Amino acid sequence: MSGRIHSYLTMGTVDGPGIRFVVFLQGCFARCIYCHNPDTWDKNTGILTEPEDIVEKVLRYRAYYGKQPQITVSGGEALNQIEFTTKLFRLCKKNKIHTALDTSGFGCMEEEKIKELLEVTDLCLLDVKFTIPEAYEEFTGIPMEAVVTFLDQLEKYKITTWIRMVIVPGLNDKAEEMERLYQLTKDITCIEKLELLPFRKLCLEKYQEMNLEFPLKVTPEAGKELIDSLYNVWNDLKMK
Ligand code: SF4
Repeated sequence: MSGRIHSYLTMGTVDGPGIRFVVFLQGCFARCIYCHNPDTWDKNTGILTEPEDIVEKVLRYRAYYGKQPQITVSGGEALNQIEFTTKLFRLCKKNKIHTALDTSGFGCMEEEKIKELLEVTDLCLLDVKFTIPEAYEEFTGIPMEAVVTFLDQLEKYKITTWIRMVIVPGLNDKAEEMERLYQLTKDITCIEKLELLPFRKLCLEKYQEMNLEFPLKVTPEAGKELIDSLYNVWNDLKMK
């Protein structure tokens, strides 16, 4: 079974622990207002590739990955090609490659298929984009319920999870956002870490090339101070 691949990053350092081989899949149903990869949206493009070919690439670079080769499947949205991602991860596990799934949690509603994927997933990087259902729908085009349901699945199958949130000034940069995130996640034991990612505008050129308007072109980027202050709120909540 082949998958539609957008691109690869052979030495990824921001999508999971260590240096990783990152596979960006083609196709995403969401339309996040801050999306950096609008060129991954179309599910009908991308290069058709077999899982065996990807594993071969990872193993070719194994010398760079330390003790264990590591892969992250990102997007687009990996759950849109869940059967392919599962097959790829199965093959990775056979070859002792650490597997991370970077997902919005939206793309497959079939519990059996999700279970099969999670059986071969070592780590999930789960994007929780907002903490109010109305904002979630308005700024991503997908229901918040999807991410909450996916988080429940991660807990059920005990998958180590990192929660990731892109912080956008004016949209989700207040202390209350951390408080709601805390309430949403405080009873979930599989969460190992929270990563707050600053909103950036490196994608402007891409939008221009695609003749698309970037909705946040006048929004300021998120600075280190803002991110640090939100981590402080988060850490205070965890200490209570
Ligand atoms: S889920 Fe990711 S790829 Fe899809 S629109 Fe949102 S940011 Fe872009």
